[in-house]
Amino acid sequence: MFDLEQLLRPHLRTLVPYSSARDDYQGTQGVFLDANENPFGSITDQDWNRYPDPYQRKLKEKLAGIRGISAQNIYLGNGSDEPIDLLLRAFCEPGLDNVIINPPTYGMYKVSADINNVEVREVLLTEHFELDVNQIFSSIGDKTKLIFICSPNNPTGNDLSLDAIREVIGGFRGIVIVDEAYIDFCSRASFVEMLEEFPNLVVLQTFSKAWGLAGLRLGVAYCSEEIMVILKKIKAPYNLSGLTQEVAMEALDKWKQKDEMVKRILENREKLREDLSKIDSVMKIYPSDANFLLVEMEDAHSRYQNLVEQGVIVRDRSGVILCNDALRITVGTKQENARLVEELKKTEK
Ligand SMILES: *Cc1c(COP(=O)(O)O)cnc(C)c1O
Repeated sequence: MFDLEQLLRPHLRTLVPYSSARDDYQGTQGVFLDANENPFGSITDQDWNRYPDPYQRKLKEKLAGIRGISAQNIYLGNGSDEPIDLLLRAFCEPGLDNVIINPPTYGMYKVSADINNVEVREVLLTEHFELDVNQIFSSIGDKTKLIFICSPNNPTGNDLSLDAIREVIGGFRGIVIVDEAYIDFCSRASFVEMLEEFPNLVVLQTFSKAWGLAGLRLGVAYCSEEIMVILKKIKAPYNLSGLTQEVAMEALDKWKQKDEMVKRILENREKLREDLSKIDSVMKIYPSDANFLLVEMEDAHSRYQNLVEQGVIVRDRSGVILCNDALRITVGTKQENARLVEELKKTEK
């Protein structure tokens, strides 16, 4: 039923990928006169004069060991935005194929599809912010290649029904991308555990949120080896800098510290929820399985502007479908959250 070769854009089936100096010779010892690098080192304290490993082997092995999966099931990208773009470029013929997204959701799926001139079919979440499975299935056509599912979802904050996600993955002949950018903040197991069951599944995770490494730009796509090979074939040769690989190796030794930070963020989230619920203009605080709260407020847009004037910046989602009058508030430190609450109280009549 699922045929990856059929799904791939025809011209990529025979593509000869770029072969870098590091592809042609993979040893680590020797006199390297093959990549036009500067032999004197670099002008910074640390030497960055050599090209990095284009396949990030050490980092993948380390991550694979920790997760108990094979390195062949890991694609590392310059943020998870990179694999989102690569999946579109690998499987969607511009002007011909289409993808399905479930608004309100992460904005990059549509932007990336638009950049690639790929039609986007929007199937709204239900009023409880769940997948409309029937509507998804009736929107699937011959040319539907990808379905993007974000869970826990941004900007609504909730983890979607696992049964519904599983039903979509199991019932679709194309690829389903489950974006788990906020997985660390929710208690369920990752869909990474279902890779063997579903050859058409790609799970996205990122170091930008729980790991506190948004500036590093590192995203992970967990998928079958076959899909990984396709992504690897079409990526930019040196998509991850040497610095990124080095810092990520260091970060992975500190998994416990990441979990500690997550715990503190979750504590702060519940305190923030409590404090916000006492503000009159707050109409509704949605359940959250993420590191932010979606908050419905009276006059959300003008309150947003007031906050900006006071130097407190949240995300105005009041114009987003199904998020009318809602602000998306990232959970900050205790002090930051207290400051937000104080400024919001000042705008009360
Ligand atoms: C923040 C976020 C990402 C992260 O993107 P990066 O490119 O890895 O920083 C991905 N998906 C969702 C839903 C997000 O909210």
